[in-house]
Amino acid sequence: MRLIIIYLIGTLSFLNWGSTGHRALAEVASFYLTENAKKKINEILDGETIVTASTYADDIKSDSRYDEYYNWHFINMELDEDYEDTVPSEKGDVFIAINKCLDILESDSVTDSEKSFYLKLLIHFIGDLHQPMHIGRYEDRGGNRVYVKWFGRNSNLHRVWDSEMINGYNMSYSELAKNLPTPEKLEIEFERDDVIGWVNEIHSYTRNIYKDVSSGDNLGYEYQYKNFPTVKDLILKGGLRLAALLNYLFD
Ligand SMILES: [Zn+2]
Repeated sequence: MRLIIIYLIGTLSFLNWGSTGHRALAEVASFYLTENAKKKINEILDGETIVTASTYADDIKSDSRYDEYYNWHFINMELDEDYEDTVPSEKGDVFIAINKCLDILESDSVTDSEKSFYLKLLIHFIGDLHQPMHIGRYEDRGGNRVYVKWFGRNSNLHRVWDSEMINGYNMSYSELAKNLPTPEKLEIEFERDDVIGWVNEIHSYTRNIYKDVSSGDNLGYEYQYKNFPTVKDLILKGGLRLAALLNYLFD
């Protein structure tokens, strides 16, 4: 029974930044929203919080009616490329997705249910963008095919960054959000052009992560110790950026 549960947990975490990461990032954003933005978001989401909304885009993955959004969770890029050098996928990617959500949320001619749907996606994709293995190489599916051991158990590099380190830290999303470093600066302003800079910046983390790990490595305490501070920094960074973006849209 225990093995089955472990297997199921492993399967469910495929291609998701684990729910704790998404929720902690949204919780950070909620600390920095203006009163106006809070009120408007509350109306659009009909009382649902941005924390629970943050995992919606992963929740609908198992429903084939939403297959067209599958590629919106990641970008495949070679390690020496910037986003401007790539040929964007026709099926979309997380950069295209964020811009599409922004277009819709800035438009006056969308229904309430469309607004709610794309706001939930946007909250999620800012999270995915700040997990560097969501901007990985195509040939190994963003590290999903870089097979490693995590404390002796079968895992992969994508999953280590999605959920293994965060789960290993063993804090709830709200504890994690409260125990991040103090921000050096608050990102208050947001401009549409910022998003491409975020992609290229996070991709520089991706490069280092690949450099550090080879297939078959057994990762554990030392890897967690060296890399978890980066996970925390990225959750903080993503949370501040999400707040700036939501304040830009709704303040
Ligand atoms: Zn996702």
